[in-house]
Amino acid sequence: HSNGNSNHTESSFKIPPIKFTKLFINGDFVDSVSGKTLDTIDPRTGEVITKVSLGDAEDIDLAVKAARQAFDHGPWPRMSGSERGLIMLKFADLIEKNADELAALDAVNGGKVFALCKVIDVAEASKALRYYAGAADKIHGTVLKLSKGLHGYTLREPIGVVGSIIPWNFPTVMFFMKTAPALAAGCTIVLKPAEQTPLSALYYAHLAKLAGVPDGVLNVVNGHGHTTGAAISSHMDIDKVTFTGSTEVGRKIMTAAAASNLKPVSLELGGKSPLLIFDDADIDQAAEIAFRALFFNKGEICVASSRVFVQEGIYEKIEKKLIEKAKATVVGDPFDPKVHQGPQTDKKQFEKILSYIELGKREGATLLTGGNRVGQKGYYIEPTIFANVKDDMTIAREEIFGPVMSLMKFRTMEEVIKRANDTTYGLAAGIITKNLNVANTVSRSIRAGVIWINCYTAFDVDCPYGGYKMSGFGRDYGLDALNQYLQTKSVVTPVVDSPC
Ligand code: NAD
Repeated sequence: HSNGNSNHTESSFKIPPIKFTKLFINGDFVDSVSGKTLDTIDPRTGEVITKVSLGDAEDIDLAVKAARQAFDHGPWPRMSGSERGLIMLKFADLIEKNADELAALDAVNGGKVFALCKVIDVAEASKALRYYAGAADKIHGTVLKLSKGLHGYTLREPIGVVGSIIPWNFPTVMFFMKTAPALAAGCTIVLKPAEQTPLSALYYAHLAKLAGVPDGVLNVVNGHGHTTGAAISSHMDIDKVTFTGSTEVGRKIMTAAAASNLKPVSLELGGKSPLLIFDDADIDQAAEIAFRALFFNKGEICVASSRVFVQEGIYEKIEKKLIEKAKATVVGDPFDPKVHQGPQTDKKQFEKILSYIELGKREGATLLTGGNRVGQKGYYIEPTIFANVKDDMTIAREEIFGPVMSLMKFRTMEEVIKRANDTTYGLAAGIITKNLNVANTVSRSIRAGVIWINCYTAFDVDCPYGGYKMSGFGRDYGLDALNQYLQTKSVVTPVVDSPC
């Protein structure tokens, strides 16, 4: 590789033995009906870690039958919320006990920095389970004093069999973002992990069983999107689909849901999120927030601040700091404690990111730092920063999903609000300023589902997340997410006998 970034470290870590590689249906690990398998790749080397069973529409059918049976006749939706909650708490404890092994699976399979994955992703899994376990016995309807001499009340009932289709950038977080509220609500689940990162999901299925989640309640079927994923979105016996991934696939899922049984969908899709740094910001703090906001998890994060707008008075200083940070970043084996940034998750993404970098150069943006692959094997890319990026360049409009930052300069608040909103997406935005008036005005003016002021990617399980515009709809986390897995039934009766 060519620029001054010589901080690459090579792999030395030995992959832990992989215990679970089959589909998890009705409480058992089983081969796929076809007997086919899928290679799981180590992005550090491009080599095969193991083979996992490859599910298809027939396997989805079997999983849906199990989930249907568990929903219609099994104990899970019929238990009290506190009983479900106790099982979920046990599940959370088991995750904590196995945190090292679980983080290692996401690191080896997804190129995630092991130490961060353990304290962020895996820790968040237990946190999500505990949060929704606590909510499980607080699901109540309301009493309705109706007109016409009627009395009524509402029941909040689980929506039924949930199909979950998740991406590869946060295999653990996505699993629990979808699963924890659905379990609390009393739903049963058929989940398809991304084909790139199936390993931790299978381990979680095993732990769910150990914790006492009844057979059929949580099923995990690996497979490709256009076959196995499509079998979920078009299934006639799945009551709801929840999805996180690309806008293009979200559209397909919604179309398939509409064309089959009109199942409701919630979609958390792509983004091109703006970060606005105003002149009064503390330079060091602003640069640190901006750097992490894009380069965290090698830029593979849906809320990544891929458009950084800096007010002209401090632009040069911020640019300089960001370049320094990029050059100081250690790219390499995610198991090495010195490493900040691991490999991109797969070859397709790696090539896509490099082609966006080429496009940025061709379109006339200034490459400040990075721009190359790192090392000769594996999917490592240098932290890359472009300046002089125009609002209409492809790198400023399309989601790159990698370690590529675009810097833009602005003059006034009115101007930057307009430019920040000039996108088909609306997932997140960040504002860095000490001026409360600016922070309040901008947060009300930007059409996005989450606004971070003087912070970024500050996720918590009790805060709802989701998109505006083509970033999707529906909310993960918080009680909003629980509501997505419940539906309201109204029960009405006359106060006194009447022919009404
Ligand atoms: P994707 O949307 O194709 O994949 C996400 C999930 O959807 C996977 O489980 C996949 O198997 C499944 N899927 C694919 N086609 C399907 C179909 N027709 N029906 C049902 N399910 C289907 O994402 P990708 O191709 O892996 O990545 C492409 C781009 O998506 C990325 O570059 C990035 O821009 C975006 N992305 C966004 C997120 C996010 O968190 N919002 C996550 C991953 C990827």
